[in-house]
Amino acid sequence: MLLKVALHTHTVRSDGTLTPNELLRRYAEHGFDAVAITDHDQELTEEERDRLIIPDGLLVLRGCEVSYRQLGWQHVGYIWGETQLLRVLNHPQRYNMTAEEVHRALRDHRLDAFEITNQGSYCPRYEALSWPRVASDDCHAPEMINRAWIIVEVGERTGDAIITAIRCGEVEVVTQDGPKPRPPAE
Ligand SMILES: [Zn+2]
Ligand SMILES: [Zn+2]
Repeated sequence: MLLKVALHTHTVRSDGTLTPNELLRRYAEHGFDAVAITDHDQELTEEERDRLIIPDGLLVLRGCEVSYRQLGWQHVGYIWGETQLLRVLNHPQRYNMTAEEVHRALRDHRLDAFEITNQGSYCPRYEALSWPRVASDDCHAPEMINRAWIIVEVGERTGDAIITAIRCGEVEVVTQDGPKPRPPAE
């Protein structure tokens, strides 16, 4: 099955304007199958997770956008499946990184993928990289929802299946302009 996935969102728990429940409801309205809530440097507590009102059929992934000391406090998205952890170099364009610098950061810090978007805007300068890529809205407010997302092909609707598909590059990057090219073969 194909899943429409949001890997990078913020709520009032950090610098977003929506509550977690409002955020989930709006993403479900836009046809998303899975959403990771990735507030800055904090995950939802168990108590907060228990209080979530999860729209029918939506998979909520645990996440956090970590200010990553070893990379000069750049942002790295952490998304947990049932057993696996995905680590994504977020919005390298914002740090004006070259494609070569993204390559080195992914290799040296053993990250899984990078964001080829910056708050939903596509960044063609990274197209030539063969690393797994993802896209996100980096949603901080309702008008930012549904600017960019990924479609993954999975056998089951689980966090681990989504993470495995991303690691294998079984991902389609889509923005409001339509689908984007897949990475070149290594
Ligand atoms: Zn960030
Ligand atoms: Zn963010």
